[in-house]
Amino acid sequence: MLYSKTCGIIGGGQLGRMMAYKASLLGFKTLCYTDFFPSPATVFCDDYVEGSYNDTQKIIEFSKKCDFITIEFENINIESLKAIENLNLNNLRPNANAISIAQNRLKEKEFIVSLGFETAPFLKINHQNYAELESFIAKHKRVIIKTSQFGYDGKGQFIVNHTEKMPQFNLDTEYIAEGFVDFDYELSCILVRDSMGKSYAFPTPINSHKNGILHTSTLNNPSSNAEAIHISQQIANKLNYIGVMAIEFFITSSGKIIINEFAPRPHNSGHFSQDLCNVCQFENHIRAVCDLPIIEPRLLRTGQMINLLGQEAPVLYNKHINNPNAKIHLYSKDKISQGRKLGHINLIGDIEIN
Ligand code: AMP
Repeated sequence: MLYSKTCGIIGGGQLGRMMAYKASLLGFKTLCYTDFFPSPATVFCDDYVEGSYNDTQKIIEFSKKCDFITIEFENINIESLKAIENLNLNNLRPNANAISIAQNRLKEKEFIVSLGFETAPFLKINHQNYAELESFIAKHKRVIIKTSQFGYDGKGQFIVNHTEKMPQFNLDTEYIAEGFVDFDYELSCILVRDSMGKSYAFPTPINSHKNGILHTSTLNNPSSNAEAIHISQQIANKLNYIGVMAIEFFITSSGKIIINEFAPRPHNSGHFSQDLCNVCQFENHIRAVCDLPIIEPRLLRTGQMINLLGQEAPVLYNKHINNPNAKIHLYSKDKISQGRKLGHINLIGDIEIN
């Protein structure tokens, strides 16, 4: 019975690697679908299929070999994901609708607003309404322009101030303009939800970014943001979500909570759970996706996750390699480039929480 079922992971990155490791410990064979080999995930998977995320036929063939299928990367052709669902095996977790909403910033914001929650003010930009952008910039003074589809880690984004001349960019791609939120700090909620609708939140970390890329997630306080957790549960319930999802928030100086975006998968800001909690986000994700009981997360000790990004990575690695309170996690990436996520370190604080 153990080690007889296969968990399929679409995507070859570090999140797939950490999922595969936990899936294997829980008794599953792992099969990775990746568009490059060797990849961080294939190193830890029993087997892999190499193919394009647009190759629906190949993804269907892959999914027929799996008992459960999940994703570690959301920018996958939605037709392929719907084709998996059309096999009616009810084993793609999270579902294609949740992934398609998270793939597109515009759909995502419209969905969040439809639930009655607040996002940054936004405007869809296309050939027809480019003229409206000028008044949007004049009204909000500082605006971030982002590609609607498939954006992550600050990629495809730029800031415009009302004093500057109107930005020119290729309107054949759909963009979204967002009013700049004057936030005090950012936090995220990592939530796991099972197929029966039960959900648990991990303690909420406070996140700092560098050039739009997550730099640190800090847990220096045992209390979580209850409102962020409540909002996250509503989002997950509405999407009939199975697995781990991450919801990112801006918190203003008056305590107002504004939703930035959500990711339909475990998230970089949840990596702290590997060394600071009784259960990590990857284990709970695999448990939810593969119909095992999910575990209520508890913070065992305070600390901080710090990303190993680009040129900074070897410096931090050397600084902490002798530190008994530093848990190092590398991703088998040998090429260093600006801002590339090569690994992370969970620094364990000295405050024990019961
Ligand atoms: P994103 O790719 O949308 O998660 O953006 C990456 C980071 O850029 C966020 O975590 C924020 O630090 C910053 N950012 C994105 N959108 C906004 C916004 N509307 N207002 C202020 N900061 C933002």
